[in-house]
Amino acid sequence: MTDAETMTRVARWFSAARSAVALTGAGISTESGIPDFRSPGGVWSKYRPVYFDEFLQSAEARHEYWCQKSEAHREFAAARPNAGHHVVAEWEESGRIRGVVTQNIDELHQQAGSRRVLELHGTARRAACLDCSARFDIEPFIAKFLADNLVPDCPECGGRLKHATISFGQTLPMNVLMEAVRWSCEADLMLVVGSSLMVTPAADLPREAKAYGARLVIINRDATPVDSLADATLRGSIGDVLGQIAAAM
Ligand code: NAD
Ligand code: ZN
Repeated sequence: MTDAETMTRVARWFSAARSAVALTGAGISTESGIPDFRSPGGVWSKYRPVYFDEFLQSAEARHEYWCQKSEAHREFAAARPNAGHHVVAEWEESGRIRGVVTQNIDELHQQAGSRRVLELHGTARRAACLDCSARFDIEPFIAKFLADNLVPDCPECGGRLKHATISFGQTLPMNVLMEAVRWSCEADLMLVVGSSLMVTPAADLPREAKAYGARLVIINRDATPVDSLADATLRGSIGDVLGQIAAAM
């Protein structure tokens, strides 16, 4: 089957679906200029990540963390949503999908207009205090760290301030994960967009959707470990493929 035929089929499944869900990963944001996890040169490929327990225990690790995060921030501070994010937002607006479950921390779905977004790994556009749970816009803290090279404290309580993202070794927000599992089990169509599906529990969601009867479509340049379960796989550029599916509907 050609890609064009596959896209027509996917468009047909979409038209019949009542509870479609999109699951997105770093690949949907590469066309906005944000490198994905495995891209050479991206900040993710350069550093050893700071684990959550190191962050809690060591001032040195907290400094290293803020160095890495301030550099990573430059990669997406100026990024804007691309065609793929806009198609996903339009699908929600027109009632074609229930919402987006994302592993991304860049808030580009929300910037494109998506409203029902489950952020499995949090957001790097906010800071959160680990001691009192207060949340803040990240920008002033990054600017201050770059100016004085001092790890910022929580302005409310003086506690430990971290990006509102999930670090390695940190547990995912249970309420968000449970909602994502519920959407997946209730879905009749799941569209995976731009994820290598190597990281659990996100990678389990398509398996759960499929086990509960959903059709599964995977749009990703590289093969994933879940491809053999998929009803369709498309390997083209995400912006193009989503645009063509939208046009075929
Ligand atoms: P990943 O980097 O493991 O996989 C991305 C996949 O997208 C790759 O398999 C690649 O083939 C595909 N891809 C990239 N650009 C594409 C394009 N233009 N068209 C088609 N396919 C394309 O991403 P993941 O599965 O989301 O896991 C990465 C982890 O790192 C996540 O936990 C995420 O939180 C984090 N991360 C987030 C961002 C972000 O917020 N934008 C960026 C990098 C990493
Ligand atoms: Zn605090």
